[in-house]
Amino acid sequence: MNLMPEFRCHRPTTLEEAVRLKAAAASARFVGGGTDLLVNLRRGLGEPTDLIDLTAVADLAAIRYQDGALWVGAGVTLADLARHPEILASYPAVADAALAVAGPTHRAAATLGGNLCQDTRCIFYNQSEWWREGNGWCLKYLGDKCHVVVKSDRCYATYHGDVAPVLMVLGAEAVLASPRGVRRIALAELYRESGAEHLTLGPDEVLAAVALPPPAGRRAAYAKARVRDAVDFPLAGVAVALRRDGDVIGELGVAITGTNSAPLMIDTDALIGRAWNDEAAAVLALSLRKTANLLRTTITGPKYRRRAMQGMTRRLMDTLWNGR
Ligand SMILES: Cc1cc2nc3c(=O)[nH]c(=O)nc-3n(C[C@H](O)[C@H](O)[C@H](O)COP(=O)(O)OP(=O)(O)OC[C@H]3O[C@@H](n4cnc5c(N)ncnc54)[C@H](O)[C@@H]3O)c2cc1C
Repeated sequence: MNLMPEFRCHRPTTLEEAVRLKAAAASARFVGGGTDLLVNLRRGLGEPTDLIDLTAVADLAAIRYQDGALWVGAGVTLADLARHPEILASYPAVADAALAVAGPTHRAAATLGGNLCQDTRCIFYNQSEWWREGNGWCLKYLGDKCHVVVKSDRCYATYHGDVAPVLMVLGAEAVLASPRGVRRIALAELYRESGAEHLTLGPDEVLAAVALPPPAGRRAAYAKARVRDAVDFPLAGVAVALRRDGDVIGELGVAITGTNSAPLMIDTDALIGRAWNDEAAAVLALSLRKTANLLRTTITGPKYRRRAMQGMTRRLMDTLWNGR
């Protein structure tokens, strides 16, 4: 690990001040719990001139109903998210996903905003500085070559956040604040499929909250495959939200993580109005294969991760369909 680089630390108490500070310094970075960012900085991945600690911005720490949705502030810790009564009562899959992140000490500090905006990962990137230098750096940081897809002009580092896919299948929106005001976008639009620039946030924008619509008869669940159950990123993760209307699928959302440079929704249109059975499972499996782009970005190979993703999806669907 490197020493921390030199930086100025700011601790704004309002969102206005936070976005003003961000707009003032090109390389400034927000910090929530720091459990992703500070580890990367100690590895020499980035040299921001300014860190903007968001933990004193009171507005970011609230969970409340507003405009018919449950707004969860980006500064809410994953530990608080997982034990909040409204989350447990109406969105238990969100609590499950939050509890699946890292270990208890991480979750006590880690925030929802930091989880959603965490950096992408790759075996050629999450390495010490001397290792990366010895390897000629990489396209994501300081280099000009992607070691995963050698002839590529884009970085294939993978997004491994656990909470985003569950929020996406539940129809969550991201609430973004900037000096120009507040805007809301579908959470899926916060991301793009590019390992080096996977967030669509503007340079002066902060993720302020996530707005969750009422569950409206949908039941959701999340599953992840990982090396160490106690503390590890998903090698592949799947979230499913299903509304069963009698004998047919009324509404279905499936999202994946740990497979691509962004958490992605799977096309499920062909399954609406059909019963869940082996034929429907084959249709969903094909859709998963079309979207997931598993490459050599983790120590565990793509083949295993692909099979785990398919197996977890089938199991989640069976469970939700049978009302368990
Ligand atoms: C050993 C270990 C295991 C881990 N396992 C997992 C895992 O299983 N699953 C998982 O999902 N993650 C895992 N992580 C990553 C990390 O701990 C979590 O994703 C955590 O939720 C990050 O939240 P944070 O508040 O600490 O983020 P920070 O480190 O504070 O920030 C992360 C990034 O988000 C940006 N950011 C923070 N808040 C905002 C905001 N409000 N608006 C805009 N940008 C913002 C920061 O600038 C930074 O780029 C692990 C980390 C470690 C060290």
